[in-house]
Amino acid sequence: MGTTYNYDVVIIGAGPAGMCAGLYAGRAMLKAVILERGFPGGELLNTELIEDYPGFEHILGQDLAQKFADHAAKFGAEIRTGVHVDRVERTDDGTFETRTDSGDVYNSAAVIVTAGGTPIKLGIPGEIEYAGKGVSYCAICDGAFFRNQTIAVVGGGDAATEEADFLTRYAEKVYLIHRRDELRASKILQERLFANPKVAVIWNTVVDEVQADGQGLVSKLRLRDVTTDATRDLAVTGMFVFIGFRPNTGIVAEHVEHDDMGYFKTDANMETSVRGLFAAGDVRSQLTRQVTTAVGDATTAAIAVEKYLKARADGHPSEPIVGMGGYTS
Ligand SMILES: Cc1cc2nc3c(=O)[nH]c(=O)nc-3n(C[C@H](O)[C@H](O)[C@H](O)COP(=O)(O)OP(=O)(O)OC[C@H]3O[C@@H](n4cnc5c(N)ncnc54)[C@H](O)[C@@H]3O)c2cc1C
Repeated sequence: MGTTYNYDVVIIGAGPAGMCAGLYAGRAMLKAVILERGFPGGELLNTELIEDYPGFEHILGQDLAQKFADHAAKFGAEIRTGVHVDRVERTDDGTFETRTDSGDVYNSAAVIVTAGGTPIKLGIPGEIEYAGKGVSYCAICDGAFFRNQTIAVVGGGDAATEEADFLTRYAEKVYLIHRRDELRASKILQERLFANPKVAVIWNTVVDEVQADGQGLVSKLRLRDVTTDATRDLAVTGMFVFIGFRPNTGIVAEHVEHDDMGYFKTDANMETSVRGLFAAGDVRSQLTRQVTTAVGDATTAAIAVEKYLKARADGHPSEPIVGMGGYTS
């Protein structure tokens, strides 16, 4: 038998979005809890170095995560770690019950989902071991570390095709490794890729293993031709994997409007199609996914929650959330 808790707002996930939402909610004197299945940091904990968060020319992902956690706690947000959220259910009175795997229930009038997403892995030896040491799932984040180097991209859809092209800004040579004899990407992306002299496509091939040099940095990939089963090594210093990304949206019981990939659609206030349910960061349908966009979304979401709760307390739960159009200090 679990315990029941009551909060103004429950925030699911302590990545950059969740911790920023907690910071703003705490500062607004809301009783806020952040429920995190692992440790605070989210994808920051899988990122060696961040070089594009304003104010920090470079900072270790884990150091930025610690700063976010300390800052959220300073303003009164409670972070509960090792708490896996199983389900978020809407009750008849328009509030939410957030259920955890240990049987606890968190009641709140508003929920902010900041549960991020998970890049789909190849599941081959060396992939996890050398993540951050040459294996990456984010071109915009890590591309600059591969200036003038030879790297590989794995995948055949829009993301792999577009990112292979993008990575030639830095890399001298990019091999696109695809398990079929044609790409799934849109025609225009394919044409752009084929016209790029720095890209070579390796067809009908999968990566069986990632291997490293004596310093533990990626140095070659063991490739296998799926039509002949012949294997060979390809010397590269990096491997970018783009075979899909799964948003962690399945925890919400209620139907929430989402895009084709399953990301939650929101309005400009980060509210989903379900009243009182907000989404911020990687879990949200949007153009790009970065730490900056995650914290921007989260700021808006937390302030919108504050306004929604006030309207609800005043007896107007259906009132549109409107801003002052000015600054919040
Ligand atoms: C390898 C890599 C490198 C990157 N490098 C950069 C970079 O250099 N610069 C940059 O700006 N961005 C970078 N990014 C992107 C950036 O990390 C993300 O955009 C950002 O972390 C999104 O924050 P978030 O809070 O939305 O989600 P996340 O960081 O994914 O955090 C979500 C959190 O929710 C938790 N969670 C999920 N489900 C549950 C559940 N059911 N119950 C409880 N907790 C749950 C997770 O454990 C996680 O802690 C990188 C991403 C990757 C994958």
